[in-house]
Amino acid sequence: MTLGIAQRFRTLKSSATVEMSERVREARAAGREIIALSSGDPNIATDLRIIEAAERSLRSGETHYSSSSGEPALREAIARRELERSGVRYQSEDIIVTPGGKFAVLSALMGIVEPGDEVLVPQPGWVSYGPCIRLCGGVGVPVEMPTGFNIEAIRSAVTPATRAVIVNSPVNPTGKVLSDADVAGLIAVAEANNLWIIFDQVYADMSYDAPISFPQSMPGGFERTLVVDSLSKSFGMTGWRLGYLAMPPGLAKFVVKFIQHSIYCVPQFIQAAGVQALALSSELLPAYRSKFQVRVTRATEALQGVDGLVCTAPAAGFFLFPRVDGDEVAIARHWLDSLNIAVLPGTAFGNAGAGHLRLSLSCSDDELDTALERISGAGILC
Ligand code: PMP
Repeated sequence: MTLGIAQRFRTLKSSATVEMSERVREARAAGREIIALSSGDPNIATDLRIIEAAERSLRSGETHYSSSSGEPALREAIARRELERSGVRYQSEDIIVTPGGKFAVLSALMGIVEPGDEVLVPQPGWVSYGPCIRLCGGVGVPVEMPTGFNIEAIRSAVTPATRAVIVNSPVNPTGKVLSDADVAGLIAVAEANNLWIIFDQVYADMSYDAPISFPQSMPGGFERTLVVDSLSKSFGMTGWRLGYLAMPPGLAKFVVKFIQHSIYCVPQFIQAAGVQALALSSELLPAYRSKFQVRVTRATEALQGVDGLVCTAPAAGFFLFPRVDGDEVAIARHWLDSLNIAVLPGTAFGNAGAGHLRLSLSCSDDELDTALERISGAGILC
């Protein structure tokens, strides 16, 4: 008799972004010089002061288990950050520290999804929402919105089994930012159908001029919104694995049990680094933001000159999502094989991403220049 692997794993899709990063790593190990415009890992070195805070913590013996909800100092710093950005005053006890934003998404879903529940996922959208929903026994329902946020599409996707909707703003992969009207519409649909909103704001620090509308700060939003955030992108801390969930009162005491029985806690020295990072927000964030804005502008202008490719500047973040006249999978493969440039086909972000490529401007400026030269020289023809 063969030993079985659970259905939830056999049918789970791999992460297209992680797989591409692994392919790039292997190609580099084999001696190829690949320029990766594929991973969402910005080339920001963690500030030394943050590293020193972790070091101090380690040297002072903070190498034991710690609180499953998170260290009080970090949760207080997160509460202050939320107050500054969205104007919402969270109590520390409604905040749970997680190992990265991805685990915050999974923890939020674990807290609210019953087997068979449907969760609406706007697409194009981030690759991990659907698989996280499946891991909780739920059913991810893609809601296609190829031209931007569309509340009517969400309204018509609601069924009696719908439990929640996951919304990301600024959006990975499009770089779009939801407007006040979009978010108000979202809350109205959620209220009418008794839905939770999971709001993923991991790129909120990277908006160039569009103000971010936070559902948790709009009427009717606070009590049904679970906020997912992370220090990964904003502070150049992807490898530290540090994120959080901020929730309406009463939920955290349940969600924390998932933390207790899975990872137990985020290491204390990682949390000490997080406290230091948040203390440096007003210095670091504007500097990182302008660095990416320059890059985004330069790359958008260069791509606008490429035949068969239509590129507009994103409102936020470091992803470009140009439309291409051709098969996006073939073009991505062609660029990897013949230009040594790794990008992702838009369909990695759902069918609504067809006819697009996602370029992440997370590499160095020099690499970006080389990549833009190669793309401009070769075009999209396969
Ligand atoms: N949400 C979105 C939209 C993302 O793009 C990412 C990272 N690619 C995450 C959440 C999770 O980031 P992390 O786990 O590194 O905090």
